[in-house]
Amino acid sequence: MKILLIEDEKKVSAFIKKGLEGEYYTVDTAFNGKDGLEIALKFNFDLIILDVMLPFLDGITVTKEIRKAKVTTPILLLTVKNSVKDKVEGLDAGADDYLTKPFAFEELIARVRALFRRKENIPSPTLSIADLIVDQQQHKVKRGEKEIILTPKEYAILEYLLINKNNVVSRTKLVEHVYAYNFDTGTNVIDVYINKLRNKIDFESDSPLIHTIRGVGYTIKELEN
Ligand code: CA
Repeated sequence: MKILLIEDEKKVSAFIKKGLEGEYYTVDTAFNGKDGLEIALKFNFDLIILDVMLPFLDGITVTKEIRKAKVTTPILLLTVKNSVKDKVEGLDAGADDYLTKPFAFEELIARVRALFRRKENIPSPTLSIADLIVDQQQHKVKRGEKEIILTPKEYAILEYLLINKNNVVSRTKLVEHVYAYNFDTGTNVIDVYINKLRNKIDFESDSPLIHTIRGVGYTIKELEN
């Protein structure tokens, strides 16, 4: 899942980015409202974390512009303590939630997860298909009784396939969701990760779950016998 973080305080930005990457999210950063808005309108994100006090364009204006452009990506605002006005204006402008600075990182993560679940319409933090279970809170993956250890990128790809289970996901979509927008990569890298995932998940199984759709991409689904 990919997050755009718009925050002008470099230290705070680096701290949040590092923490989110530790939770297997891909994070792009912008350090003022103007750049942030431009990136938000140009690329696809699963979530935007947006500071309210920003140079050039403030977070409330950025929120309004994003919604005016019909971009529906969930927005989590970072506001300063006791600024009821910012919170109310932000929510009215189209933000989905807010968090007051300073905040505990765990609270930020919990809100991020909740916004993702709402966006993807997933009622619980567990994704599954057949005997494959992915716990999004712990990042734990199990097939049957066997625990499977994945790298962050493998996990991100599996998670995205599962959110779209039974549907075909193109290589381009996968790249978009697991790499930063300025990361220069071909889509071939996805094939490499899919092979690794297959070795870990479908290896020794009579019922493989990851399937190649020739010329299109991949799907995760249970085949009928
Ligand atoms: Ca700020």
